Amino acid sequence: MNDPRARVFSCHRSYERAVRGDDAREERGTSRARVPLDSRRGLMSEIPIVIGLLYGFDGSAHWINHVLIDRYVLGVSKPGDAYDPSKYSLTRKYAVLWAFLTVFTYALYFTLCPLSYYLSFQRRDKDGKNKAKFTGREGKDQVRNEIYTSVWSIAVMTAMTAPFELMVEAGWTKLYWDVKDYGWLYLCVTPFLFLIFSDTCIYWIHRGLHHRSVYAPIHKLHHKYKDTTPFSAYAFHPLDGWLQGCPYHIFIFLFPMHHLSYFIALGIVGLWTINIHDRVSMKIPYVNCAAHHTIHHTMFNYNYGQYFTFWDKIGGSYRNPHMYPPYAAENPSLKKAE
Ligand SMILES: [Zn+2]
Ligand SMILES: [Zn+2]
Repeated sequence: MNDPRARVFSCHRSYERAVRGDDAREERGTSRARVPLDSRRGLMSEIPIVIGLLYGFDGSAHWINHVLIDRYVLGVSKPGDAYDPSKYSLTRKYAVLWAFLTVFTYALYFTLCPLSYYLSFQRRDKDGKNKAKFTGREGKDQVRNEIYTSVWSIAVMTAMTAPFELMVEAGWTKLYWDVKDYGWLYLCVTPFLFLIFSDTCIYWIHRGLHHRSVYAPIHKLHHKYKDTTPFSAYAFHPLDGWLQGCPYHIFIFLFPMHHLSYFIALGIVGLWTINIHDRVSMKIPYVNCAAHHTIHHTMFNYNYGQYFTFWDKIGGSYRNPHMYPPYAAENPSLKKAE
């Protein structure tokens, strides 16, 4: 029972039988070679798959079709019906994955962003000021426009991301299930490798997006507002957001990563994107915080990094945000030095 796979699947032994199709095939008098669980270890995917696994389903996104669509949307099946993934075409699977990712991302966007906005932008301290030092100088329609841009952008970005999910599920990546495969040391090192790899790629992709040939048609939309809000976090041209998200997907084609640590890493990535747009900055050495990204939005050609300041320092694009408004006031000595 120490094996996590055993724990997950033992919760749903009847489901496992259904996965193999034993019940239905016995009834129909047909048989098919059984697919042992181990042979499906390569079928580990991202968000929808991990959610399915946590509920005891196999390593594919077919559970969305089987449970959500067939049972609750189309009403063509009922609990206990045999699980037969072969009846779901690639087109249907893609469409369902896309819809699932879109709804999932909307759910995160419309819970975390309003919460962050309330805590940092609307709540007042005893002096009547908000934590984000937000003046709303860009008009009262800013948040509404950011939400509008994000809603259509997320729907298109997830359509472009769904093929990655299909590739992951086809077993083309190096995601793995059992910690023993690569050991605890590698499991602990992987998140750092993931951050270093994605930060490096995003720095250069982001810097490339500021090139005059692509800035106006693709990246300018995200720079529409100089004073960002948490709702700016996903207000991208879809191609822009997708390009900057590609390194996370490419990583698992190059490096083995435990599927659960990948799932957690993607969650943290989503949170971090909101965090660097809320203007309320932590001060952590070598880390690209909200202050750095605020300066990127106001000064354009500096602080391209996502997680660290390393590449900005190497690439000559680093600016200490605490030397510039609205953060300079927090550090009068630096302001004087400037
Ligand atoms: Zn930019
Ligand atoms: Zn931004």
